[in-house]
Amino acid sequence: MKEKKGHQADRRKFLVGMGVAGAAATLAGPALAASAISCNVRWDHEHELVIIGSGFAGLAAAIQAKRLGAKNVVIYEKMPVFGGNSAYNGGLFAIPNTPLQKQEGVKDSPEIMAADQAKAGRGVADKELLLHVAKNAGDALQMTLDAGAEYFPYLQQLGGHSVPRTYQTTVACGAGITQPLIKECKKLGVRLVNRAKFDSLIFDDKGKVIGAKILEGHYFGRGKEGNPVNVRSERGVLVATGGFARNIGLRSAQDPTLTAEVPSTNPPNATGEAMLELFDVGAVPVHMAYIQTGPWASPDEDGFGYVSNYSIYNFAHSLSIYIKTGRRFMNEIADRKTRSDAQLACRDDDGKPLPPITITSYKHAKEHPTMKKVLKYGVGWKFDSLEEIAKQYNIPLKPLKEQVKEYNGYVKSGVDEQFGKPMEKAKGKFIEGPFVVIRNWPKVHYCQGGAKIDVQARVIDSTTWKPIPGLYAAGEVTGGMHGVSRLGSCSIPDCMVMGMTAAKTMMNA
Ligand SMILES: Cc1cc2nc3c(=O)[nH]c(=O)nc-3n(C[C@H](O)[C@H](O)[C@H](O)COP(=O)(O)OP(=O)(O)OC[C@H]3O[C@@H](n4cnc5c(N)ncnc54)[C@H](O)[C@@H]3O)c2cc1C
Repeated sequence: MKEKKGHQADRRKFLVGMGVAGAAATLAGPALAASAISCNVRWDHEHELVIIGSGFAGLAAAIQAKRLGAKNVVIYEKMPVFGGNSAYNGGLFAIPNTPLQKQEGVKDSPEIMAADQAKAGRGVADKELLLHVAKNAGDALQMTLDAGAEYFPYLQQLGGHSVPRTYQTTVACGAGITQPLIKECKKLGVRLVNRAKFDSLIFDDKGKVIGAKILEGHYFGRGKEGNPVNVRSERGVLVATGGFARNIGLRSAQDPTLTAEVPSTNPPNATGEAMLELFDVGAVPVHMAYIQTGPWASPDEDGFGYVSNYSIYNFAHSLSIYIKTGRRFMNEIADRKTRSDAQLACRDDDGKPLPPITITSYKHAKEHPTMKKVLKYGVGWKFDSLEEIAKQYNIPLKPLKEQVKEYNGYVKSGVDEQFGKPMEKAKGKFIEGPFVVIRNWPKVHYCQGGAKIDVQARVIDSTTWKPIPGLYAAGEVTGGMHGVSRLGSCSIPDCMVMGMTAAKTMMNA
């Protein structure tokens, strides 16, 4: 075995010669707590290519591997259902240079998209990765279309994007992509195994990842870890296990403001233990403290709910109002960090949160399917006049009326003199009654941090700064691509392109 410096080498040496079965008996607990060396491993299953996690990254990788001729591809998923965070997602997908942009007369390029993202990343984003993703996002879109995904026939301009470039699934949800991809995986013969939790990696005596320990029959959140099996993978292991927004200990250790009291849009399985295993075997942790909050979320419902997608669509032609002053306090389509920070500063005289309201003309709000649900489920409200709104939320009426008048002037001139909001998507959309009002308050949404990868999706070793042989990662489990703040609709291209890239690298290795 080629020895590594540091604790990991010691841990691995400890396991050499014992074999996994012997080590399992020695270590406490139902699961093996450490990655292992392969000597004497009894393999329970053997595959050509092993993928952990069934979100965008894992599914795209599996399809790409199959297209490149892989015979035996398996996805292990710890939950009973496949799709991960990706299935809950808003279905918003940024792609530069698309036929829809040409149709709408929008000039764009991968370089412009990557530059928008780098700007939101505040100087520490990985520009090489961003450009790689932007250049290949069209292929990822095509993969979803080939699988049967459907998108609205118009583009949206999300916060921080300099032009409209965002598609959205017609179900306004990531399941509009994951379901067709899962179907495609099945059609291509990919094995999808649920209730199978990845525990640790298995190395050969040269330090190459050749398999994984999986806990079969895992019951998430019910105290049943599952039975350990050793899974061999001829082409290495791809870890595509998503972020850690629901691991409160880990996230608040990075950012002490993100305690259990701050809600999250993520489902409970976003716990990040597979990422910790990557760090344990030497992967470089990057940007772990950059944890994004979503400025479109609502304090009136749990999780992503209905308001998030509603706000994402409507912010471009709405105005957000600070209740205390009756005035706008931000560019409604600035990047997420800028808006979240501005919202979190909206406080009452005692410093308690005072969620701002967002006002949209009913006739424009109703263009998006989420408005009906927002009203139906009582997380948004219809008002006939500004007087009613001011009364309901205790907003000073005069400044509110002046603000709306002023804003309508910007709609007319196409220039937001207050906050520099791009007004392209607000063209002709004056703020006029009747109105729809929602409240916004940020929720923990996305982890920019994770394991460092290179542009071929290889996991980088913190002692050698070279790829760890046989180990790949893609999607939200990786870190560094987006820097301080990821732009909306840019995770789908990231996950899918890097999943596809990982598959290519693994098939060529
Ligand atoms: C509510 C919501 C809305 C969003 N909307 C958008 C949007 O519209 N556009 C956009 O670009 N981004 C959006 N995002 C972000 C984006 O959805 C995620 O970043 C993306 O889905 C992550 O994909 P992934 O493949 O990396 O991981 P995931 O989709 O999270 O999949 C990872 C899978 O790995 C499994 N897993 C984890 N640990 C283990 C383990 N130890 N063993 C086995 N399996 C494991 C998980 O259960 C999960 O199924 C949204 C996120 C949320 C939460």
